[in-house]
Amino acid sequence: MDNPEQRIKIAVQKTGRLTDHSLDLLERCGLKFRQSKDQLFCYGENMPVDLLLVRDDDIPGLVSDDVCDLGIVGLNIVEDKRQSLRNDGRDGLFKQVFELDFGHCRLSIAGPEGGDYKGLESLNNVRIATSYVGLLTNYLRTHNISADIVYLSGAVEIAPKLGHADYICDLVSTGSTLTANGLEEIEVVLESEAVIIQTLAELSPDKQALVDRILQRLDGVLQVHESKYIMLHAPRAALAEIRDLLPGSESPTVMPLDGSDDKVAIHAVCRENVFWETLENLKAAGASSLLVLPVEKMLA
Ligand code: ATP
Ligand code: ZN
Repeated sequence: MDNPEQRIKIAVQKTGRLTDHSLDLLERCGLKFRQSKDQLFCYGENMPVDLLLVRDDDIPGLVSDDVCDLGIVGLNIVEDKRQSLRNDGRDGLFKQVFELDFGHCRLSIAGPEGGDYKGLESLNNVRIATSYVGLLTNYLRTHNISADIVYLSGAVEIAPKLGHADYICDLVSTGSTLTANGLEEIEVVLESEAVIIQTLAELSPDKQALVDRILQRLDGVLQVHESKYIMLHAPRAALAEIRDLLPGSESPTVMPLDGSDDKVAIHAVCRENVFWETLENLKAAGASSLLVLPVEKMLA
């Protein structure tokens, strides 16, 4: 499939907090790209899947306009774009497929430390600086608050100091930037993490099959992240108790042990991490020879 029409394009942040995680995730899906971080385009070497390296803010638009088939971007950007389009009476032509478990942060409203904030009503008639006009407009409307939104594309947290706004609405992860600017978090507007979005445009059957294949691999990579393969020996009589103790496992494989009528070997995939406490509980229930292994690949 060297016909450019038949190749898939995935939009990824060019440089920023999401870049390394996004590229690493695609690599774990078995995709190889000709490295060219300084350029806009990375050619897929082993599958007809190319990357477009862009600003994160542009990713929902590129996917909605069917320039890219998939995109990896923060939910904050996706939802803001969706709300902004909706406020203009349009729908974003993209759908969210998975959460990717990186880029965790929250979009919060913050105000002066030790200020006289007494709940959402305190936001009536104040000025709030933000880059997230769509999300903030929707949040204030939902809570029946009427405030002035001051749009700033960056450095939002210094707006109160400059007298440009009373409050801000911006991304927070540790809160240290807020503290450094004499602000404190007062309301969470959205909990966010990186997600993968897919275009709603109709694709050719070949392209659709390829998109489905990539998404299935991604699902596998995300599932193995926390999964463990656990092996142990147990008395047959303790089987039910042990099965209940195995975290997030479906049907374990139970095999007879050579030369022992009352003991069995149990193998199970646990879709959650297996902690020491779990092993200790299994041992207390009669298990022995416990072994926990990482899972490298999984295909449902
Ligand atoms: P670009 O040049 O691509 O527009 P940017 O400055 O908007 O970059 P980054 O600061 O790299 O973007 O953040 C990208 C995404 O990382 C955010 O949209 C958000 O989803 C996520 N993120 C996670 N933690 C934070 C944080 N503490 N501050 C900002 N973004 C965060
Ligand atoms: Zn951005």
